[in-house]
Amino acid sequence: MKLIKTKAIFLAAGLIALPLSGCSQNAAENSNNDTTLTGNPKENPAAFTFKKDPVTVNAFKLDTYISISAYEDIDESYLYDTLALCDRYEEMFSMHKEGGALYNLNEGTTDKVPSELGRVMETALKWSQSSDGAFQISVGRVTELWDFTSGSHVIPSDNEIKSALKTVDDTKISLSPSDSEEGAAYTVSMPEGTKIDLGAVAKGYIADKLKEDLISRGITSAVINLGGNVLCVGDKNGDPFNIGIRKPFAGDTDMITVLKLKDCSAVSSGISERYFEENGRIYHHIINPRTGYPYENELWQSTVITKDSLTGDILSTLCYALGTDKALELAKNTPDTEVILVKDDLSLVTSDGANDLMK
Ligand code: ADP
Ligand code: MG
Repeated sequence: MKLIKTKAIFLAAGLIALPLSGCSQNAAENSNNDTTLTGNPKENPAAFTFKKDPVTVNAFKLDTYISISAYEDIDESYLYDTLALCDRYEEMFSMHKEGGALYNLNEGTTDKVPSELGRVMETALKWSQSSDGAFQISVGRVTELWDFTSGSHVIPSDNEIKSALKTVDDTKISLSPSDSEEGAAYTVSMPEGTKIDLGAVAKGYIADKLKEDLISRGITSAVINLGGNVLCVGDKNGDPFNIGIRKPFAGDTDMITVLKLKDCSAVSSGISERYFEENGRIYHHIINPRTGYPYENELWQSTVITKDSLTGDILSTLCYALGTDKALELAKNTPDTEVILVKDDLSLVTSDGANDLMK
């Protein structure tokens, strides 16, 4: 079988879209031109003032590097409280966290899931239905075989893939409200053996929840970055945030373009995030649920700009899976959605409104 040929490969870090503090495309040259404002009126009791530089916290969570940068006069510990929410959600959404809600559902030890997990699954299934099989959360048995999270880099056998594919069919998953147990708001019905993988979905939802938490605690100017899943909270004292889109297969700070964004999400999916190379081929983590093998198309990366990050996360993976023409069509037909595609010759293809964001 043919898979994408190797080009110059360097370190594949988790970050794709990086929030930059300056306008330059060279991260080393970035300078921050924020004006410090004191007494900036806010409804929240905490009387924050804009700082020249953001307060930033970093961590390795959700199997990736994450950060929150807030343009407020606060102590770092304030942001660590928000960051800690990731642990709770990882427990709920990860297919690998033993004893977690999704893990238990996948193991068949329960058919009940908490309301947040149920609602996220419903949203993902809605997009799955319109994807003609390109995007399916029931792909878990197959992604488990490829196991990009462990770094083991084993190519599964055709037989293993064939067998796992029998369990992949999102149309056979249904959710119904359940009032039986506290915290178990949905009953999920799915064929025995099916495993749900929310790797293409969860970080977007978690980013939305972190934003909600920041706002509820009076922070209205921040950038949340969950391994390239970026969500801008408000703006930077009236100016947009500069969000760099990383150049695939290049150094960590090489940008292919920079977006100017206010109060919206930018999520990148692509083949240079998690992959391995064998026999001159790249095997990456976005799987074609019809074949069980990584997608082979003309794209290296897709970035989707939306209002909320849950939609952005789903659509960035889906647009990659759809390929250039269908991804552009999807962006055209979906309100408040722009897409920036990086092809395998590093050329950019963008939806109509995306150019305005790159100025
Ligand atoms: P990231 O892991 O960087 O957030 P994505 O959002 O693009 O990247 O999601 C890729 C992940 O989605 C894979 O690692 C896997 O867990 C899952 N996945 C892979 N192929 C599919 C697919 N066709 N449909 C839905 N989910 C998929
Ligand atoms: Mg995604």
